[in-house]
Amino acid sequence: MQELQEKPKYHIWTIGCQMNKAESERLGGFFERQGYQATAVADEADIIVLNSCVVRQSAENRVVNKLHALKSLKKQRPELTLAVTGCWVDSNIDQLSKGFPHVDHFFGPGERPYWLEKGDWDRVTEANAGPTAYIPIIQGCNNFCSYCIVPYRRGREKSRPVDDIMHEVRERVRLGTREVTLLGQNVDSYGHDLPDRPDLADLLAELNTIEGLARIRFLTNHPKDMSPRLITAMAELDKVCEQLSLPVQSGSNDILKAMRRGYTVEDYRRLATEIRRQVARVALSTDIIVGFPSETEQQFQETYNLLAGLRFDTVHVAAYSPRSGTIAARELEDNVPATEKKRRLNMVEQLQEGIATEINAGLLGTTVEVLVEGRKGGKWQGRTRTDKLVFFKDTNNRRGQLLPIRIEQTSPWSLQGKPEIE
Ligand code: SF4
Repeated sequence: MQELQEKPKYHIWTIGCQMNKAESERLGGFFERQGYQATAVADEADIIVLNSCVVRQSAENRVVNKLHALKSLKKQRPELTLAVTGCWVDSNIDQLSKGFPHVDHFFGPGERPYWLEKGDWDRVTEANAGPTAYIPIIQGCNNFCSYCIVPYRRGREKSRPVDDIMHEVRERVRLGTREVTLLGQNVDSYGHDLPDRPDLADLLAELNTIEGLARIRFLTNHPKDMSPRLITAMAELDKVCEQLSLPVQSGSNDILKAMRRGYTVEDYRRLATEIRRQVARVALSTDIIVGFPSETEQQFQETYNLLAGLRFDTVHVAAYSPRSGTIAARELEDNVPATEKKRRLNMVEQLQEGIATEINAGLLGTTVEVLVEGRKGGKWQGRTRTDKLVFFKDTNNRRGQLLPIRIEQTSPWSLQGKPEIE
């Protein structure tokens, strides 16, 4: 115990998407192999890393505020190492260093902390192998949706070789992981930049052979890039879960064009119908932006009608806000009033609450397979293959187990049940 207390400490502050969370987890594992231990208290850390996000202006502001707040700590303890990674760190590190001289190191998203020479960057240890794991498979994005800053900050697409990914997943499974979620800003373009041009369907087929691995998910998909091969792989590979995130963003062709998404509403409908035809009981989720520049009431209604018609399991809705550096911020006037954006957002949320209530109520009395992730509020919690959150009570340690749970209560957001075991 005493020995533990003498270890130097690291603190990682993370905001943003699952990709950032996965990378923070990898960083944490790396620091632990270097002899550090985690602390939730920044003031007592020897290394502080901020893993930043810039998708929204508010996220970037949080990073800047956090950095300003850390100035006095760095002044009191100059030996503290302060580092910043994530999407905020773009190619212009010189300028960032000038603006924030109290930061010791800036390093790009997904990169190793270059000032720590020793250590196996890619190795997985028990410290970062839980029942579920996020596995980044492709960084960056070659699409330039007009509202999105990601391609400017994360750069062009860069895929990890299949062997690297297989090695990491095998290691994690050996240490207890049962489910992996493959991550990328656009997972559907995985592999086009690799020598043999494997695609996501090939990668899924390889992963499906790993003994001990029970489930595979992947996100985020781009409707324009999702191939028929991938849909077939989803339908045929037993470990690939019946769940898909497929952001549509708008139900209006004019708005989709202004967003530069590269597909029409008709294309999207055809794709969703085909996925549902081939992948039995698949749960679809989508993302929507309301109040995009010049979005009329009629165009919003088209989005509303699309959602009412397709009946997604989950809808993530955001009100448009201009992101400086993007095409939309430069060329399109943010002319939908904030109150109107809020009204449209509320309408989508209310619609979706009703749909999710009905979909989840359909599971009442059925038995679902749950992978138990941990405990919350005195109950075990886990997810179904269709990504529904399930809570149940049990006095045994169920972490990491796949259990049959009989659903006794449902809500739009989660399910409650009882284990069907002796
Ligand atoms: S697909 Fe579009 S929204 Fe997604 S990361 Fe790329 S540019 Fe951004």
